[in-house]
Amino acid sequence: MNSSAIIVGGGITGLSAAWELARAGQDFVLLESAPRVGSVIQTVRRDGFVAERGPDSFLGNKPPMAALCEELGLADEVVASLPAPRPQLAGRLPALPAALPEDETLAAYLLRCFGEARGAELASTVVGPMLAGVYGGRIEEWSAQSWLAARATAGSAPARFNSLRCGMQQLIEALVDQLPGDRLRTGAALDAAEIARVIQSGERRVILALPAWRAAELLAFDADLAGPLSAIPYVSSRNVNLAYRRSPPLPPGHGMLAGPEQAPLLAATYAHQKFPGRAPAGGALVRLFYPDGAEPDWLALGLPDPDWMVSTHCDRAMPQYTTGHPARLAAIGAGLARYPNLRLCGNAYGGVGMPDCIASGRAAAGA
Ligand SMILES: Cc1cc2nc3c(=O)[nH]c(=O)nc-3n(C[C@H](O)[C@H](O)[C@H](O)COP(=O)(O)OP(=O)(O)OC[C@H]3O[C@@H](n4cnc5c(N)ncnc54)[C@H](O)[C@@H]3O)c2cc1C
Repeated sequence: MNSSAIIVGGGITGLSAAWELARAGQDFVLLESAPRVGSVIQTVRRDGFVAERGPDSFLGNKPPMAALCEELGLADEVVASLPAPRPQLAGRLPALPAALPEDETLAAYLLRCFGEARGAELASTVVGPMLAGVYGGRIEEWSAQSWLAARATAGSAPARFNSLRCGMQQLIEALVDQLPGDRLRTGAALDAAEIARVIQSGERRVILALPAWRAAELLAFDADLAGPLSAIPYVSSRNVNLAYRRSPPLPPGHGMLAGPEQAPLLAATYAHQKFPGRAPAGGALVRLFYPDGAEPDWLALGLPDPDWMVSTHCDRAMPQYTTGHPARLAAIGAGLARYPNLRLCGNAYGGVGMPDCIASGRAAAGA
């Protein structure tokens, strides 16, 4: 086998795989179809505002991000979220029974565990808004097994959100600076037939750091592998950053998860109240999240027109771990056994957040 690995996809997962290989002194080439790497991780820095188009924070109790920041010399650039009152949720989530021999929807699980009245209340006031606000997901579809697994790996320590001083793009910039530049090929016209040939011949390692639906396209020659990959649904979404030089009146705290009365809004973040340095003194940076197709309407929320705004459409960027997700992962694992030189990594499998993606990319490169 040729020792040079091919990484397809230059989001945080593919870049993490590249970082792992570079640190091990192994040769690789990373092919990214877009003109820049980083994908959804993009920060707009303008007039003293630091506005995120994609992720704005990461859970401080997940080690992969801390380790990567340390290795990149970014440890001093990590900023902790500002103090805030606890989110106003109408209910609290009691301890959940973790064992679940068969998958079911999260909604069914809550009803079964807590009874109809309490289960429905938790679904509509706590778990439903959280799932919609964070993943654009619906509890009537989400896999209870996957949700419980994510809760288990999150650890028992209280979650604290961190970010980077100049925004999450700082992580991408550090990776680009420190990875060998001639190994990162952006705007790369991918020859899908050639990738398929390399995978089937086993002559080189291929690491697909792509959304599952994209990986399925490249693996179309193997229906048993492409089938469960293409069955992982993704949703699109829109978010708008509203920049105010003079802050309008806002509630305290980092933001809110929307209830049915605020539909179609999913969530709002008051970025300048969440992290230091997101807006100039006296200003505000408000970010609103919507499902695909919804028209952002800040006036309906009582917000004035901003001084400027950034609107971002995230096209099929968020995987949905719907019921049957663990079974689909098992089928993908069985299919992968036929190709010892092929690895799949990214947000479709064992976690959507950036720390999970980093762990997934590094594991794919190290294995
Ligand atoms: C709006 C939004 C907010 C989020 N907020 C948070 C947050 O606050 N905290 C958190 O931890 N996580 C958050 N996430 C999740 C996290 O950002 C993503 O799961 C993660 O960035 C995905 O990285 P990835 O590399 O796996 O995939 P992607 O970012 O999808 O990267 C895949 C890359 O592959 C490229 N590509 C596609 N097809 C090809 C091809 N044929 N050939 C070559 N390249 C190809 C794409 O152009 C892309 O660059 C958020 C996600 C979104 C969309």
